[in-house]
Amino acid sequence: TTDLDGLTALVTGGASGIGLATARLLSERGADVAVLDLDPSGIHRPLRGFTADVADDASVRAAVEAAAGALGGIDILVNNAGIGAAGTVEDNPDEQWHRVLDVNVLGIVRTTRAALPHLRRSPAASVVNTCSIAATAGLPQRALYSASKGAVLSLTLAMAADHVREGIRVNCVNPGTVDTPWVGRLLDTAPDPAAERAALNGRQPHGRLVTAEEVAAAVAYLASPAAGSVTGTALAVDGGMAGL
Ligand code: NAD
Repeated sequence: TTDLDGLTALVTGGASGIGLATARLLSERGADVAVLDLDPSGIHRPLRGFTADVADDASVRAAVEAAAGALGGIDILVNNAGIGAAGTVEDNPDEQWHRVLDVNVLGIVRTTRAALPHLRRSPAASVVNTCSIAATAGLPQRALYSASKGAVLSLTLAMAADHVREGIRVNCVNPGTVDTPWVGRLLDTAPDPAAERAALNGRQPHGRLVTAEEVAAAVAYLASPAAGSVTGTALAVDGGMAGL
């Protein structure tokens, strides 16, 4: 079943975009859902908001414990918080590399480490990481971002191998370009937003941006009992862009 009745879920970066769509869908499917975000002030019942910065280990541990206490456990962890970066290897200073890897890669490490004791107690434990087609597509002007998501893909496979015998499944989704506030910000700062939107639409072979709800549906499937034998996989939601 893709029903999530009786399960609990924690979604990082769940106050916007893909994370918010995912938190809402998991809740609609019956899960009790907590959102962990830098700013969860827009989160309302039935979702529960918790403040944390995935780049700060103490804040992650405190928020994961608070969320697990409120939910009565954690069955599903969605590691979705992430930040972008544009440019080639010549464009991003070391500090920016450290910052993006700290959030996009170590953010997953910290949250998973804090959640594992709770996941081990669950009969239906699963982790879903938000990766990106940038992990495999060889996108121009995305050296740092692609490297961070390549690490997320490898980390997903390694975590799947490490925890499968404990009954914890680990998968990721690889979205193409998704219509979220993130992409809205990108368009706002483009010299010609209409041309930029047309270029983004054209990058996906199906001719449009992916919706946050489409990515959420893939996450919800991977987190559900229907995917009980699915672990160590990346599910592309990209209109055929990566061609995997
Ligand atoms: P978004 O900016 O709309 O939402 C990201 C959320 O993460 C925000 O609520 C933000 O507050 C939170 N966040 C950021 N840094 C954080 C931190 N240090 N600690 C806690 N929370 C933090 O972005 P989105 O487009 O929904 O992206 C979500 C994920 O999807 C990211 O991992 C991104 O790399 C990935 N992704 C996005 C696209 C896209 O085209 N939008 C494509 C592929 C993958």
